[in-house]
This record gives sequence, structure tokens and C-alpha cells, in this order.
Amino acid sequence: MSKSYKLIQHNYDVVVVGAGGAGLRATFGMAHSGLKTACLTKVFPTRSHTVAAQGGMSAALANMGQDMWQWHFYDTVKGSDWLGDQDAIEYMCREAIPAVIELEHYGVPFSRTDEGKIYQRPFGGMTTNYGEGIAQRTCAAADRTGHAILHTLYQQALRHNAEFFIEYFTLDLIIDDTGTCRGVVAWDLSDGTLHVFRAHQTVLATGGYGRAYFSATSAHTCTGDGNGMVLRAGLPLQDMEFTQFHPTGIYGSGCLMTEGCRGEGGYLTNSNGERFMERYAPNAKDLASRDVVSRSMTIEIRDGRGVGEYKDHIHLHLEHLGAKVINERLPGIAETARIFAGVDVTKEPAPVLPTVHYNMGGIPTNYRGEVVILKDGDPDCIIPGLMAIGEAACVSVHGANRLGSNSLLDIIVFGRAAAIRCAELVNPNGHSHKELPATSVDKIITRFDKLRHSNGDNTTAELRLQMQRTMQNHAAVFRTGDSLSTGIKLLEEVYIGFEHIGVSDRSMVWNSDLVEALELDNLLGCAMVSIKSALNRKESRGGHAREDYPDRDDGQWMKHTLASLDINGQVAIDYRPVHTYTLTDEVDYIPPKQRIY
Ligand SMILES: Cc1cc2nc3c(=O)[nH]c(=O)nc-3n(C[C@H](O)[C@H](O)[C@H](O)COP(=O)(O)OP(=O)(O)OC[C@H]3O[C@@H](n4cnc5c(N)ncnc54)[C@H](O)[C@@H]3O)c2cc1C
Repeated sequence: MSKSYKLIQHNYDVVVVGAGGAGLRATFGMAHSGLKTACLTKVFPTRSHTVAAQGGMSAALANMGQDMWQWHFYDTVKGSDWLGDQDAIEYMCREAIPAVIELEHYGVPFSRTDEGKIYQRPFGGMTTNYGEGIAQRTCAAADRTGHAILHTLYQQALRHNAEFFIEYFTLDLIIDDTGTCRGVVAWDLSDGTLHVFRAHQTVLATGGYGRAYFSATSAHTCTGDGNGMVLRAGLPLQDMEFTQFHPTGIYGSGCLMTEGCRGEGGYLTNSNGERFMERYAPNAKDLASRDVVSRSMTIEIRDGRGVGEYKDHIHLHLEHLGAKVINERLPGIAETARIFAGVDVTKEPAPVLPTVHYNMGGIPTNYRGEVVILKDGDPDCIIPGLMAIGEAACVSVHGANRLGSNSLLDIIVFGRAAAIRCAELVNPNGHSHKELPATSVDKIITRFDKLRHSNGDNTTAELRLQMQRTMQNHAAVFRTGDSLSTGIKLLEEVYIGFEHIGVSDRSMVWNSDLVEALELDNLLGCAMVSIKSALNRKESRGGHAREDYPDRDDGQWMKHTLASLDINGQVAIDYRPVHTYTLTDEVDYIPPKQRIY
């Protein structure tokens, strides 16, 4: 099969797939340590979803009040509802401090305090003294933090002579007979050529899969491509039942109103004008963790206290902050609200609704970024040659629920960790690439060719909408066994429908029809393992709220789900233990307790 397509060959020490914050931080770190590094990306680097991050990046700098990384560690463990791996959380919270300073030195234009220090705002679930006070820990560049970070990282990557392959759509991982990852096959969208990239380490940094849902804050390019590749390689994904709903997506469009709005003093009200979060989270109120606020809003709406004609959303108030604060701290938000809700936030509240925002689950890794699986009783068995970072990965630092501003932190800290690990594992130009087994590349090209020439009756757009509606309605903020089972049936229909898909454009150049079909295939795999993992987990924890199993059950369920997928859409489930130990004795393991805010 591969004979009918000409394959252009490349040899690298490391190939990074993805040029968001995670991919860029890894890429330039690797290039800096002398490794021959290629970075492949389907969109121009600075168009990656990281660019949309608004609120900020957490680090216990203590610029605006007392703080310690050990408190940040505690908050993150609690935020994760005790599903996070405490060794990895320790690593992230400790490394946060040098990571932010490093970004500042690279050129990120953080907002400043009057004394010239990096400005830090409060964010949900971020506290002082183990839950007693509210911390100011989130470093921000106004409400355009991701934009500032991504542009700075891209400039650093260019400075360090990393090689970019822009608008290259990566199709699949090349896995050899020993189970080692040997690189990827990618399609150059602009000239239609196919490329084989051989690498000693392949790093997936392909971001999340928010677009499996109908209403999401994430970009249309967040289609879980790396996760799809991993599933096709026969490897499992971890904790895919945990989806984060952000409390304040704009009603209708789903565009994000950053949590920084509430960090700066914004609050939510119901149709009685009541600040209802005071009832659900007496201490943290509107700054409780995202899962808590999203559930509270959903209950208010269900109980008939929603606002608007259909009583189906909630109000977010900023007007009391005054135009000066809004224009200085939240200028992008004011613009977004004006465009997408027709609201002037200096004068009136914005209509908001919990909206899919982040995927806690992903490719299981250790804190060095190496992909791990459960094999022969070893829950931390490393897949040689394969790494994953950023939202595509599940380290797991976010466990069952991510705290706001911990993802920009995650992508920087683990992007850097992956670069450090690659420098240890790969000797620059030290060893040559062995011959690839022909079948592994053939398989990839055969799948690509089949989809390219598919001529069934179903369109990508119809199938995608069916999938998105199913996930939105049946794997929502609250779930039950019945609704999940119905969702699975509907999703299986989409799966069968995909067998009869038709792609109308057969060309190889800028074929967006085929790109979207490939993306749908990846999304479908993510959706299927997510909903089946959700049906399987019979408890409520973090972002996974089962009405038929309302309590957290640590005895049965304090473990990571591993879900793999066969070609018929059948999901096999296994488990890995949560890491209940820390890396050093600078911080103690925090045993599970009730999670109240
Ligand atoms: C609107 C919004 C606001 C947010 N605000 C914050 C915030 O304030 N603080 C915070 O901590 N977190 C925030 N988050 C979350 C955080 O921004 C993301 O989780 C994080 O930026 C993801 O980074 P990433 O590098 O993993 O992936 P992305 O930035 O999504 O990048 C993915 C990369 O992979 C590439 N790619 C994907 N598939 C392929 C393929 N098949 N072939 C080649 N390349 C491919 C893409 O081209 C892209 O370069 C926000 C998220 C959203 C959606």
C-alpha cells in the first residue's frame, strides 16, 4: 500500500507532536540541550488553544500575601478529590516557582504590582494555611495569560533552532514489534505529501478533546488526536470519565468568562438575585472548586431559580467592580461579553452556564512525561520511546477535578520535565535509527487511504453533531447509570455510522473534509472510552457526579481507570493505583478526607 504513496523520510532525535504551551516548552528545552528536535503541528503554533487561556498560572510566589508551595500541594490534592498522584503533584507545585520566574526571564509580560512584582489573583480552590484563607497565587498577564506565554515560548523555540513542521497533520504512531514507539506518520496539508518521522522519543502534546461535546470553551481543533493515536496503538487512556465543566461559559456560544472574573470579586446570582454560592460553599463561596460551583448552578436551574426567559442560566456580576478595574484586569472579558452576549459588563450581569472546559483524563504518564501502562503486575511500566504532556496527558496531577490556573502550570512544568528526561535518555546523534518494520507504516497508510476514498452516505458533520449531542445530554454535569447507558447506545450508532461515512473531496492538498473525518475518528474514540468509563465508575468524585451513587467511595474507587478500545468500539477496563506517596519528605502524604469548601 505505501508504494502508491511516496513517503518522505526524516530522522530526528526527538519528535514533538503539538505546538501549544506543552509542546513548545518541550521543543525548545530539547533543542537547547543539543537534541535534533522536530515539532509537528496541525495549526500555526500561536493558534494552538493555549493562546485562549485567560486567567493565569498558579505558583506560590507569595508576592501578594503569605504563601507556600506546600499549601498549593494541599489544595491540588484536595481539588483532585484524592485521585491525583501525590508524587507528581509535589513535583508540579514545587517546580511552579522556578517555572514562572523562568517564563518571566524569557519575556512573558506579566501584570505587575505597584512594587513591580508579578501580579497574582485569587482563583477557585487556591487557599492559604491548608484551607483556612484565600490565596493570591495565580500569576496573570491581564486576562490574556495564555497568549503571552504561547508567543514567548514560540520565540524561544525559534531562537533555539528547533525545526517546525507547520500544518502537518499527524496520523498515527509507528509502533514496532517490541512495542517501542519509533516515530510518527504525518500528512503535509499544504502540499499533500506524506512523511515518516523516525525518532528515539516521540512526545504527544496534542491537547484536549473538548469538541467531543456540543458546548465547549475549547477551540474546534481540540479533537483529542494524540489520544486517538494511543487508542489505535492498543494502549489505554486514563480517567477519561472526568470532564471539567467551567461554571461560566457564555450562555449560547460557550465562550469562556475566566474564573479570574470571580477572582477579581465577581459573583453569581439566581433569579431571586441571591448569591446562592454562600449556601453551597460557606467559606470559599464563588471561589469554590469548579465542579462544586457547576453542580450548584445546575441545581439552582433545576429547582426553577435560573434566570432569563427559560430560567435556564445564571447571572455573573462584574458591574460593582467598576470600569477601571474591569478595563485593567479583565479587558478581554469585557470584549467577549459584548460580542457574544451583547452585554456591557460594567453595567449589567452576563448570562452564563456550565460549559465543557477541560479533560482531566488522557494518556497515563509518570512525572517525567514517560507513558506508563499496567503490565505483568507493574502499574508503572514504561512504553519505550513514547511520552505525553499537557492536556493530552494524565500525569495525574488533576485527578478527578483540575483547579483553575493549574493547567498552564502543568503544561510548562511537564513540558520542561519531558525535555529534561529526553536529554537524559537520548544521546544527541549518538545512535542511528534501526530499519522500521514495513507493516507498521503500511497499516497507517491503509487506514488513511480507506477514509480518503470512503463513499458512504453519512457525512462527518452529521455524525459529529450526533456524537456531540449525545455526550452533552448523557455525560453531563450530573450522570446516572440510565442516562449513561442510553448515551452508550446512541454513541454506538454513531460508531456504526462511521463505517458508512463518505468523504467527498479526494484531493491531498488542503482537504479539510478529510481532516475533519480523521478528527472525528479521534473524537469518537475519546467519547466512547469516556462514557464507558463513566458508567463503570460507581461513585461520585470531582467532576464525575453520579446521582445514583452520590458519595465518594475510597475503599472501592480510589484508583485510576485504564480504558482501551478495540476496532469494534468495545472498551476494556483495568485500573492503576493512585500514588499515595510523595517524592521527598518536604511534604507529607495527605490522606483522604471530606472535601468541603
Ligand atoms: C478558553 C480557555 C481558557 C483557559 N484558561 C486557562 C487559564 O487561565 N489557566 C489555566 O491554567 N488553564 C486554562 N485553560 C486550560 C489550558 O489552557 C489548556 O489545558 C492548555 O493550554 C493545553 O495546552 P496543550 O499544550 O496541552 O495543548 P494545546 O494548546 O491545545 O495545543 C495542542 C497542539 O497540538 C497540535 N495538534 C493536535 N493534533 C495534532 C495532529 N493530529 N497533528 C499535529 N499537531 C496536532 C495543535 O496544532 C496544537 O499545536 C484554558 C482553556 C481554554 C479552552
